[in-house]
Amino acid sequence: MKRKAWKPKIRKSDRPTLTGTPPLGYLISHYCPICGKHLFSFYEGDLKRPDYKFRVSRDWNYCSKCGTLLDLDEWKEPEPEVKGAAEEIEWED
Ligand SMILES: [Zn+2]
Repeated sequence: MKRKAWKPKIRKSDRPTLTGTPPLGYLISHYCPICGKHLFSFYEGDLKRPDYKFRVSRDWNYCSKCGTLLDLDEWKEPEPEVKGAAEEIEWED
């Protein structure tokens, strides 16, 4: 039987952070759904900046505290295809 990979639990801060240009906005925190360990956080406002891309390590698959298999694909850099082809990436948006 294939092991189930768990999506992190997501929690938004109560209030947005208003500093920064554009404002940082809400802090979005991600937790292990099993043991509640904090995994990573980022500000909502940062995601709106064109030069910002939040990424986690491609090798990160398990919670470091309880060992739960985590589904973090959404935040991982896609598999590199051909070396040196970076200029040819087309951004879908
Ligand atoms: Zn855990």
